[in-house]
Amino acid sequence: MILGILKESAHGETRVALLPESLKPLVAQGLSIAVESGAGEAAGATDRAYAEAGANLTHDRRSILSNADLLPVVNMLRPDEQARLKPNAVVVGFMKPLDAPALLDEAIHRPTTLFSMELIPRITRAQAMDALSSMATIAGYKAVIAAADLLPRLFPMLITAAGTIPPARVFVIGAGVAGLQAIATARRLGAVVEAYDVRAAAGEQVRSLGAKFLDVDLGGINTEGGGGYAAQLTEEALERGRDLIARTAAHSDVIITTAQIPGRPAPLLIRRAAVEAMRSGSIIVDIAAPAGGNCELTKPGITQTIAKQKGGGVTLLAPLNLAAEVPVHASQLYARNVLNFLALVLKDSAKNGSLNIDLTDEVLAGACVAHQGQLINQRVAKLIEGAAELEIAHQGATA
Ligand code: NAD
Repeated sequence: MILGILKESAHGETRVALLPESLKPLVAQGLSIAVESGAGEAAGATDRAYAEAGANLTHDRRSILSNADLLPVVNMLRPDEQARLKPNAVVVGFMKPLDAPALLDEAIHRPTTLFSMELIPRITRAQAMDALSSMATIAGYKAVIAAADLLPRLFPMLITAAGTIPPARVFVIGAGVAGLQAIATARRLGAVVEAYDVRAAAGEQVRSLGAKFLDVDLGGINTEGGGGYAAQLTEEALERGRDLIARTAAHSDVIITTAQIPGRPAPLLIRRAAVEAMRSGSIIVDIAAPAGGNCELTKPGITQTIAKQKGGGVTLLAPLNLAAEVPVHASQLYARNVLNFLALVLKDSAKNGSLNIDLTDEVLAGACVAHQGQLINQRVAKLIEGAAELEIAHQGATA
């Protein structure tokens, strides 16, 4: 059985799905490992290190695509590459199944199996496979470092012979995995931190990191969407959050905003007026940019200076792949998450001579987008059916 490791082809991607150190248990299970030359280069893993770990190196990407039985990836393959997959191939990686299911279309209709890292259930047994949390941890850290680098002020309070410098004030919106890491990082750098989240459970975690939790009365509505995620709020509740955010922005030097609802556009929480109320030189890092962003001025992937009426400006960053800015540790964490997931797929495979696609297993079934041409995940199926209906309606309207 062949496991393939490709050089990621997405623009700006530096991570790799598995590192040389990941290969030992796979080789021990009798897998033959094919690695595309240069796959780990940006993540500090040389071809030589892969070869020494027992892999076969090749420049022939197509041969890996068409021969691999198991293909762990960071980002899903392009449609033209999906068309080259071997029958019965199993692909594991970030697939954006709820954000861009149409991009999986080619592979879904083939006799392949697609496991999405985003869909792995957030249950205790699967915690070691939670790649979303791994990448969010890195994004939260890196966003604060970027803000500290650009802010024309220092983060810590300094008492010097030349006078006292007050600490920077950081406001974190969304205290999930990325937000909590942002709080911890900003606190380590000496900032005074405030945070807001719609989930009441986040309050205790925020306070335990030495930050102030900002509570707002959302009218007693349910804010928990299950699995630790937030629910989609009513417009009235969102508006109450926006008011709180505007008031807090006015005295903040930095805003790190991370609020997301899985499978939906990120909630718009920061109005233009709130940005303009910040003092000149302030920084906003919109970590929710890949889902559209939390600020109404965000342009995903673009850094902007928002001019203020009284002169100066606020810098608004909207990074699309912060994890790729830390390729060594992002790959290390991702590879460990993937390896833990692969252990399920490879269970008894040496004995049986086939992969273990046991869709009665809660974790495998939860992560499975499609198997042998059938859509397994109901949310993805609904999204694809909905898009097909829209397409038919559109064709009808234009006929
Ligand atoms: P996420 O990336 O979907 O969202 C980030 C944060 O934004 C969340 O805390 C959410 O409550 C918040 N948010 C959403 N809408 C908002 C709004 N309108 N205003 C303010 N905040 C808003 O979530 P995540 O960080 O991946 O996970 C959230 C939580 O899930 C974690 O804090 C944790 O408690 C839980 N979790 C559980 C497991 C597990 O059980 N294995 C694993 C990871 C995370």
